[in-house]
Amino acid sequence: MKIHDVAVIGGGSAGAMAALRVVLNNDECLFFPGSPKDKKRSRAFWVTKVENMPGHLQYKKGIDEPNKENLDWLTTGPFKEKFIWKKNLGVTNISKSDNGIFMLTDNKGETYQARYVILCTGVMDVQPIIQGSIDTIYPYANIQLADYCMRCDGHHVLNKKVAIFGHNSGAAWVGIILKERYNCPEVTILTNGETPSFDEETTTLMEKYNFKVVTEVITEIKGDPKNKILESFICGEKIVNADFAFISLGMIVYNQLAKMLGANLDQRGFVIGDAKGKTNVEGLYVAGDLRANTKKQIYTAWDMAVDSADEVNLLIRRKKRIDTSLL
Ligand SMILES: Cc1cc2nc3c(=O)[nH]c(=O)nc-3n(C[C@H](O)[C@H](O)[C@H](O)COP(=O)(O)OP(=O)(O)OC[C@H]3O[C@@H](n4cnc5c(N)ncnc54)[C@H](O)[C@@H]3O)c2cc1C
Repeated sequence: MKIHDVAVIGGGSAGAMAALRVVLNNDECLFFPGSPKDKKRSRAFWVTKVENMPGHLQYKKGIDEPNKENLDWLTTGPFKEKFIWKKNLGVTNISKSDNGIFMLTDNKGETYQARYVILCTGVMDVQPIIQGSIDTIYPYANIQLADYCMRCDGHHVLNKKVAIFGHNSGAAWVGIILKERYNCPEVTILTNGETPSFDEETTTLMEKYNFKVVTEVITEIKGDPKNKILESFICGEKIVNADFAFISLGMIVYNQLAKMLGANLDQRGFVIGDAKGKTNVEGLYVAGDLRANTKKQIYTAWDMAVDSADEVNLLIRRKKRIDTSLL
């Protein structure tokens, strides 16, 4: 079986950039963007308008559309021989053989080999359950009246009443930062039936800013998504008026492949990598939201992916020098 230079797993911001950099370094890239199911449960799929990065305002699907342009170019451009795009395929199994080669199996059962792997499978935000379903929030999330990422979309709440979904200090701090940055006249924390747990400093600030904390389960959302209006959340007897919601319930980390290889994870399940994304498993690199202790952004995913691809290229070039007795 052919041994490919690099397998890039994941086709969001980090994966697309890793594939691009690997190919532009003239290394061979086996690229798995994920099955339709992987794709649908990734952050990449849900990102629409990207306003916090230059040059992205014209795209309706802020990650997918620019990525597609570059991936299409890779299939036709001067390096097309180096790019093997496994469209609609995800990796379901991965192991490492005794001679250090990665063995991968896709969701159709086909197997592959690669010397290096750059893992970019990302994370997904935990969704609130309202009326027994995670779907209830989607009409509002799709029109960006419910958002997840303060650095991406916090500016939407300028002078608006905000409801924060969450129950710990992290969620409360989303409210505090939004209040301080964007002058929100009302901030309410909706715990949706969970017991609140805020530390002392956070509680003091919440009191000073007159935050309300509503612990009752959310029974209904009132608004008109077609006309881009959010009015209120009904929590039992209580009505919480809000123009905008922020969801701060944590993240699901797609670390299954990293676990199969025995990669070190942090307490929250993110994969630990050094500044280049190198993990404790030789030849395995991690980039994007999956990597521990990083900003979860498109541009940081790009930077991580470039560092990992360049490091892999350095190792490939070094080996070639040794193999050809140059050094
Ligand atoms: C609603 C929303 C809005 C956002 N807006 C912005 C913004 O405006 N600006 C900004 O900078 N950031 C924004 N972000 C954050 C941004 O989406 C992430 O930081 C970025 O997508 C991370 O890229 P990634 O490649 O690590 O993961 P993702 O983009 O989530 O990609 C993960 C990829 O892994 C694939 N995958 C998963 N499992 C497998 C598998 N087993 N095999 C193969 N492939 C697999 C998926 O198909 C997907 O292609 C937003 C996030 C959300 C949720």
